[in-house]
Amino acid sequence: MCAIVGIYGNENAARLASLALFSMQHRGQEASGISSSANGKISTFKKRGLVSEVFKENTLSLLKGNMAIGHNRYSTAGGDTLDDTQPIFAKYKLGEIAIVHNGNLINKSEVRQELINDGAIFQSGLDSENLVHLIARSSKNKLRDRIKEALDKTIGAFCFIIQSRSKQFVIRDKYGIRPLSLGKIKSGGYVVASETCAFELVDAMFIRDIKPGEMLIFNNKQEEPESIQLFKEEYRPCAFEYVYFSRPDSVIDNKTVYETRENMGKTLALNDRNNNIKIDMVVPVPDSGVPAALGYANESGIPFKYGIIRNHYIGRTFIEPTQEMRSLKVKMKLSPMRSLIKGKSLLVIDDSIVRGTTSKRIVRMLKDAGAKEVHFRVASPEIKFPCYYGIDTPNKEELISFSMNKNEICSHIGADTLEYLSIDDLVSAIGVERNYALESFNGDYFIKNNG
Ligand code: 5GP
Ligand code: MG
Repeated sequence: MCAIVGIYGNENAARLASLALFSMQHRGQEASGISSSANGKISTFKKRGLVSEVFKENTLSLLKGNMAIGHNRYSTAGGDTLDDTQPIFAKYKLGEIAIVHNGNLINKSEVRQELINDGAIFQSGLDSENLVHLIARSSKNKLRDRIKEALDKTIGAFCFIIQSRSKQFVIRDKYGIRPLSLGKIKSGGYVVASETCAFELVDAMFIRDIKPGEMLIFNNKQEEPESIQLFKEEYRPCAFEYVYFSRPDSVIDNKTVYETRENMGKTLALNDRNNNIKIDMVVPVPDSGVPAALGYANESGIPFKYGIIRNHYIGRTFIEPTQEMRSLKVKMKLSPMRSLIKGKSLLVIDDSIVRGTTSKRIVRMLKDAGAKEVHFRVASPEIKFPCYYGIDTPNKEELISFSMNKNEICSHIGADTLEYLSIDDLVSAIGVERNYALESFNGDYFIKNNG
């Protein structure tokens, strides 16, 4: 996941970057960082924690200048140190540079090994550090040519924002797997952000998505950013951005995420038309299941009820329960509305089932609270394959749909019935005809290691 932002040409650059990161907190809660440039010098502040914890008045005031880049880190298995947070900063032949990255480089190990064999010293476990080395070792004179040369050796899903002392370079891979959009800030300058929901808080107007394979260059001397098509476009946007990652109010490829989720729920309802089940209410798993549940309820005419209440204060600061207390974890976040659901037949909608642990606990919780029947609906297809394009999905053995079929999962989670969307359903629900990246559902790993 992760979120990135770049602000160019606004005297409150770091402050605006922190607001944009705050709006994109859902894409990563592990750590946050910003680098700003002023008077030929880059300053960086990064720390583990939520954006509101990392950026306060005393830290923001250190980040001067009219350009800044920022990053929210999504919690991954390893790399818990500050070294593994972004922006990555380095000094090299042409001066200073800072980089933020959203995505995953699939040839990272080979490139890293080559660089290490050549004598490079790495400071972090981040795949994006490869890019710093490749840029620093390039024989080209201009930074833009060095970046291009480095990207020629970089295979995978990526959105990069690279900041020098006076310029910003924005690059989206040729597949456009992760979203990245450009906006114009009303108080001056430009914003580039992983999601358009960030534009609200920085008071920017959406201009357009960055094109797959495009490099934008923000340069002091120019008003408008310069655009170069670095790589031939082979657009393969990630469908899971619509299912889970992006905030409902974000717009990707001219489509509001909320609208696509409502359509997903509507499709689930249409698929259920001939299933002879008697349902009293449609209940979302908050928050991500809410738009789909509304779509289901509107289509079926069955009332939408908040049968599950979410506690929003379960932050990352809360100590993880011990193994014996695991079931407490779901209970701390989600509580059943006993009076509503007692003796009732519920249609419960969540956006996805990954490991199947959450859904199992939810069904048990609802049944313990007196629900007569729980019919589970999932607003995405079965996740059978790990994603290597920027999502931190578990290895395939942990994916419940890798080892169990629908009926087995249904009885495993204790539901009365279980239905998913088909892959075709998902694509029609998004409603823009594209050759989507669907590897989590169909195992089509279309990015080959030779490019
Ligand atoms: P499960 O219990 O099946 O492992 O997880 C399903 C739940 O995880 C769903 O409620 C879904 O909203 C959420 N989910 C789906 N994908 C991700 C992800 O990549 N990261 C996190 N943290 N949650 C996810
Ligand atoms: Mg969820």
